[in-house]
Formats: sequence, C-alpha cells, structure tokens
Amino acid sequence: MGGDTIFGKILRREIPAHIVYEDDLCLAFTDINPQAPTHVLLIPKKPIPSLAEVTPEDKELLGHMLLTVKQVAAQLGLTEAGYRLVVNTGRDGGQTVFHLHFHLLGGRQLHWPPG
Ligand code: 5GP
Repeated sequence: MGGDTIFGKILRREIPAHIVYEDDLCLAFTDINPQAPTHVLLIPKKPIPSLAEVTPEDKELLGHMLLTVKQVAAQLGLTEAGYRLVVNTGRDGGQTVFHLHFHLLGGRQLHWPPG
C-alpha cells in the first residue's frame, strides 16, 4: 500500500500521523506544518503521484475523495464557516510530496489570491 513517499510511510503506519478519517480508499491526517487552524491532508491509498497523473480509471476514486472532503469538513466543524480545498500540482503548483493529496484548510478567513 502507498508507494515510496512520506505519505506511503504514513499509510503503512511506518511513521506516525494524527489520523482523522480512514476508509478502504483514502486516509486523512493533520498536516505537520499547518497553514490554518484546521489543515488536513486527504490522500488516496492508491499511490497516484499527482493530479497530472490521474486517468479515467480513477474517476470513481476522485469522486469519492471529494465527497469525503465534504464529510471530513463536517466532522471537523467547518461546514458553516466554510473552508478551502487545494491540490498543489507539479513544480509551479508548489507540490513537494509526490503522492496525490488534497489540502483541506479552514478555521480562519483565507485570503485570495494565494501567493
Ligand atoms: P505539498 O507542498 O506537496 O502540496 O504538500 C505537502 C504537505 O505535506 C505539506 O503541507 C507538509 O507540511 C506536509 N507534510 C510533509 N511531511 C509530512 C509528514 O511527515 N507528516 C505530515 N502529517 N505532513 C507532512
């Protein structure tokens, strides 16, 4: 399970993480360097390196992940005030870990545009 990244190690429980949600297809845990009062990463168990590498075969998984974001946001009390979903992709996107992940950010007013 996972692949050879830090998130693969978290999936295999080789390094610790504060897990807030898990099911057969994905795992959500708090970011080690939070950029907002709530900063959770949602990752697929399938080791897809980035959004640039998803295929039509991943359609159901990606839909499931978006519905899971809604559910985890509700679980963390973010629904009423709102939140942001970010998917850094590739070099210009600022991606540093090459295992697909959704950043769920909330708990403060977020600014736009991002830096
Ligand atoms: P990216 O820059 O690729 O979009 O996001 C990677 C995120 O992973 C960063 O926000 C970073 O703080 C987080 N991160 C990196 N290493 C670890 C780790 O070992 N544990 C956790 N929980 N988060 C990590």
